[in-house]
Amino acid sequence: VPTVAIVGRPNVGKSSLVNRILGRREAVVEDVPGVTRDRVSYDASWAGRRFLVQDTGGWEPDAKGMAQSVARQAEVAMKTADAIVLVVDATVGATSTDEAVAKVLRRSKTPVLLAANKVDDERLESEAASLWSLGLGEPFTVSAAHGRGTGDLLDRILEALPETPRESVLTGGPRRVALVGKPNVGKSSLMNKLTGEDRAVVDNVAGTTVDPVDELVELGGKIWNFVDTAGLRKKVQQSSGHEFYASLRTRSAIEAAEVAVLLIDASEPITEQDQRVLTMIIEAGRALVIAFNKWDLVDEDRRTQLEKEIDRDLSRVPWARTVNISAHTGRAVQKLVPALETALESWDKRVSTGQLNTWLKAVIAETPPPMRGGRLPRVMFATQAATRPPTFVFFTTGFLEAGYRRFLERKLREAFNFDGSPVRVNVRVRE
Ligand code: GDP
Repeated sequence: VPTVAIVGRPNVGKSSLVNRILGRREAVVEDVPGVTRDRVSYDASWAGRRFLVQDTGGWEPDAKGMAQSVARQAEVAMKTADAIVLVVDATVGATSTDEAVAKVLRRSKTPVLLAANKVDDERLESEAASLWSLGLGEPFTVSAAHGRGTGDLLDRILEALPETPRESVLTGGPRRVALVGKPNVGKSSLMNKLTGEDRAVVDNVAGTTVDPVDELVELGGKIWNFVDTAGLRKKVQQSSGHEFYASLRTRSAIEAAEVAVLLIDASEPITEQDQRVLTMIIEAGRALVIAFNKWDLVDEDRRTQLEKEIDRDLSRVPWARTVNISAHTGRAVQKLVPALETALESWDKRVSTGQLNTWLKAVIAETPPPMRGGRLPRVMFATQAATRPPTFVFFTTGFLEAGYRRFLERKLREAFNFDGSPVRVNVRVRE
């Protein structure tokens, strides 16, 4: 099924447009403030043709600001979607963020359509004309809120979609893996080991689109796509003074992947830098495998010490899969495969609404949520709003405190097993 990505800065009406395309109102789940949401995709159809709508809304601006954050969305869309709709607010005109994103999208081989939103009536049509300046062709005027022009936009989207969709994250194909970790942890060594003499590097697989910086590798009888390996090959990331770029690179590799292998040097104490990469993986909502590398250098004492560090520094990811490896000797490197498979299985997992609510009743009966503002919030219903990662929404009569949300996550994990994957718990309060 082909995928259409909707990108744009916040408040231009992306979610409204997604809802309009889906023809239903409740599809897009609002987030709890501060909860970063990742790509979510929905089934849609128009004129008898099925496609997926990928909503990239809700991304928080990162340290480099909004333009950077939205440009990153666009980069991801260019790698994963079959058509991209850039939404801009016609009543505001092209902002510097819109321009930065358009600049990225002008390089896109994936077709890009420009939607000029909030054109609620004819008088505003002319204002949209200034958006030609973005260099993305004709702006299609729409009003997502009122439905004006959205049918025409959908017709254009269908025209732009290829007959055969690319093999993407959403439509199958080799699973995408990122090897990440601080400099000198052994990423390049591991990559070399994985692609070494005894293993064939696969050049191409029919029907698969791979970026030039990605590598297809056969492991455990399956083909895996190691994303963004250029830096690991050329070792550019090690030169000093490039830490900022190394971190951008890490982030973009994580975002292009479905599962991240976080390499940690087992022979030395766990560092802040390890923690920062771990945070990126969790925030991006990717499946996770932790590989303790340089195991050949670990003696009994270091091992005892490492166990303490794991308890102290990695307590936020008790669900992570870990393997002890040596990229140098090749020790246990093949154990990565079952760990990757388990993590991805959890990441893809869907719990039926029936199962979920049977579980919910039992959990609440045993441990009801604590009082808030003198009232006892009722948890009425839960649904799994998304997979990759599993994202749950609890409908309640009052906000649930963080402690209780963590409790629900723990209980979800016990009941349904999400080893190797982050799980998101959102709350939607209904008055
Ligand atoms: P990268 O910066 O993460 O790509 O790290 P490299 O792969 O370049 O490795 C940095 C250094 O650590 C090199 O000197 C490697 O030979 C060494 N190294 C990598 N993995 C291991 C390992 O498992 N054991 C030992 N003893 N050394 C390793």
